[in-house]
Amino acid sequence: MEFKRRKTKQIKIGDVPIGGGAPIVVQSMTKTDTRDAQATILQIKRLEMVGCEIIRIAVPDKESVDSLEEIIKKVNIPVIADIHFDYRLAVESIKKGVHGLRINPGNIGSKTRIKEVVKAAKDKGVPIRVGVNAGSLEKDILEKYGKASPEALVESALKNIRIIGEMDFHLMKVSIKASDVLRTLESLKLLAQHVDYPFHAGITEAGPLFSGSVKSSAGLALILKEGLADTIRISLTAPPEEEVRAAYMILSSLGLRKRGLNFVSCPVCGRCRVDLPEMAVEIENRIKDIKKPLTVAVMGCEVNGPGEAREADIGIACGKGYGLIFKHGKSFRKVKAEDMVDEFVKEVKAAAKEIKK
Ligand code: SF4
Repeated sequence: MEFKRRKTKQIKIGDVPIGGGAPIVVQSMTKTDTRDAQATILQIKRLEMVGCEIIRIAVPDKESVDSLEEIIKKVNIPVIADIHFDYRLAVESIKKGVHGLRINPGNIGSKTRIKEVVKAAKDKGVPIRVGVNAGSLEKDILEKYGKASPEALVESALKNIRIIGEMDFHLMKVSIKASDVLRTLESLKLLAQHVDYPFHAGITEAGPLFSGSVKSSAGLALILKEGLADTIRISLTAPPEEEVRAAYMILSSLGLRKRGLNFVSCPVCGRCRVDLPEMAVEIENRIKDIKKPLTVAVMGCEVNGPGEAREADIGIACGKGYGLIFKHGKSFRKVKAEDMVDEFVKEVKAAAKEIKK
């Protein structure tokens, strides 16, 4: 089964295309104090290593704007400035060279202020994400609908898209976020009937690593199934590298991007004679930075293990006192129990190196 993608315009953030049939782009957001340019640069460098393709940075004040130039100069991925409330910060960030802008028109203020921002973006060809959030809907729209329903959220998005579009500016992507998945999904479905701008999707404030990843996977699977995401960010209360890893895991498990590991391990049952949960965690930790697309299986016994291990690019089925390593469907090596983790990790890294880009 192939996931359909909605037909959209294409925009570019720096040199990264979004929408218009481009692969779904993985982005994250820095968690450092933007005023501390060095810490922010270091965090972005770590994010680049795990495959982050676009980085968003909160720009809450003038000092943060002042850091932008140095950050942009030192990192290799496009930078989006995330601005709330003060339109002047958006205008100044564009002057400093950001590749994209995220604003919530609902809190930027009057039409005149939004237009100031659009004018600056137009002059430099900087795309804008119109981010509508259920928590900060315009008062008049909230009064009209009585609550932040999908219809209300879409009306807010369309109103702001219209204001920006009236200035003959069309380098837009749109996001709608509500705290519950189904409302977000319904809103995006409704909005897709009206506009062909690319969509940025994510489950907002999902939670810490485990619960946040589970919630994001469930929500995004529904959104991705409808073809309603062109770029995604997984919001986790965790280091941002985990957001990027989770994003790739979601995309690769749905067959939408091939990058990095597809890690398979069995749930363990009474046939297992090794400490598989500990072993799987250790192996995954030691190979998690592999960037090439590789399916790795770690299985607990010689009953069902070999089948799954054979299906993977590389896998191990653990027997009593030994492990059988399979590579590309064939039995490859037998290793002693005490060497299983080290030898398997070595073989996985070698298998990743053999993959041509
Ligand atoms: Fe049980 Fe073996 Fe299946 Fe693991 S692979 S769940 S140990 S039968």
